[in-house]
Amino acid sequence: MKYPRWALAIVLPLALCVTGHASPATLETRGLRISIDRASGDIVSLTAHGVEMLAQPSRQWVVRLTDPASRQSQWLDSGHARATEVSVGAGLIRVRSILQDAGVTVEAVWKQDASGGLTARCSVSAPPKAILESVTCPVLKLRATVDGDRDATRLFMPGGDGFIATHAGMVKNPWAGRSYPGWASMQFMALYGARGGLTVQGRDRQALPKAFEAPYDAGSDMVEMRIVHHLPFVLGRAFATPTALLSACGPSWQSAADIYKPWARRQWWARRKTGDAAPPAWLSTGLLTMGGHLRPFGMGKRPVEADQWPEVVRRLKEAFGASGVLLDLREWEHDGIYTSPFYFPLYPSDEEVKRILASVRPLNARATAMVSGLQWMIERKAYTTDTYNVTAFDGRERFEREGRQVCVIGRDGQPDIAEPYFTWDGAKARMCPAHAFTQAHFPATARRLAEAGFAIFEFDQMNGGQCPPCYSSDHGHEPGPGPWMREAISRFMAATRKAGRAVSREFATSLEDPCEVYLPHLDTYISRAGHT
Ligand SMILES: [Zn+2]
Repeated sequence: MKYPRWALAIVLPLALCVTGHASPATLETRGLRISIDRASGDIVSLTAHGVEMLAQPSRQWVVRLTDPASRQSQWLDSGHARATEVSVGAGLIRVRSILQDAGVTVEAVWKQDASGGLTARCSVSAPPKAILESVTCPVLKLRATVDGDRDATRLFMPGGDGFIATHAGMVKNPWAGRSYPGWASMQFMALYGARGGLTVQGRDRQALPKAFEAPYDAGSDMVEMRIVHHLPFVLGRAFATPTALLSACGPSWQSAADIYKPWARRQWWARRKTGDAAPPAWLSTGLLTMGGHLRPFGMGKRPVEADQWPEVVRRLKEAFGASGVLLDLREWEHDGIYTSPFYFPLYPSDEEVKRILASVRPLNARATAMVSGLQWMIERKAYTTDTYNVTAFDGRERFEREGRQVCVIGRDGQPDIAEPYFTWDGAKARMCPAHAFTQAHFPATARRLAEAGFAIFEFDQMNGGQCPPCYSSDHGHEPGPGPWMREAISRFMAATRKAGRAVSREFATSLEDPCEVYLPHLDTYISRAGHT
């Protein structure tokens, strides 16, 4: 049937008007209610315990599409879609959008979950001419002042042991983001006030590369809470995000953790370790930790001279009534602290370190060696004070000769070199975890340190197992972020533990701010309270 043009002119605006005012599609679970606009697919309301959490309508997702030749990216959301279709089923809402120009269809599905929360998943079809570099889902533009109470508002982020930001803290330090597996040690964050709030959690058993982000925007007093999934740099590949769970939580980070724990404890990384996999018993004997330096400070002395160690350890134990001591003995590297990866022979010599460690062992004292993780030090300036001594280091030639082909290649095709950040720091690249050199380096280092008498090998300066993605096509892994990173890191951690254990049954592994996925390979850890 054909309609005259004037009829369309009346009917069409009327239809739009009706659609625009149609009540949003809603899903409700225990304490949580989400409302989705039927025309745009935007999230228009999200309440937790009846409190509106949303600052403004939120798009369902953001996709990053990259042209493989120019490497130029465009970030697209459902606002760029030619058509969006919202359908409602039993306990679910489906939002389907077509990005006509990119030739991509994106589908977001919200479901009621048996746990009492809501799950979100987003699937993106294969872009025919582009690289799908990231998919962000969910994206929630939340009120940074929860329930109108600025003083009671708290943001929990999963860095290290977890940390909390107050509203004033968010204003002062607006960026909050942690990559996983790595700086984010677990898959959850939360925003809450005096009556509770919202927790956004991952339910990703594969622990794929992602970031938990909650940046603060002062202009609109808003926190954009989102999970960004980082994908391999491969043309024309589709992606479906792992499940994200939204749940109402109480007025504490512990209540959000209580929602996470039952799931996390069922995962492969949280299995109880028994037999050979169990941490050595001596770690649980009530140890006192003490620092020490092998290299003299600027004043020409060490805090404890080599022959004083047994006496100092004995007196320390007496003073505190401790059964044993753990020495954080630094400056054992041949060319100065943190001069990775060529550490040997030890400073001042293998024999001298062996002698010191053997002299305190009868007193139930053992030492940890902080190993500079994946760092490849290239060059460093000296930094010396009366009570500090950082040696100058020039490894530029060796880096060119041996390091360049081993280290992480950035997205721009160049080695990813970080400039010094601290006084003790230098310019350094990171060894690619999948490279054969790296895989051999860690167990070989563990063997030498165990032979010298070190009891703990601590993976330092790669907090949580953090490593930038490598885009090399020569290292035997897929270019860009991918599960290969976690697999390669796990592989050398396991080999390190095995190599050390072959020398000494007491040998143990440790990691700074450990991510949960590496727990199977770790016997202990170090972490800083409030490590933001
Ligand atoms: Zn690589």
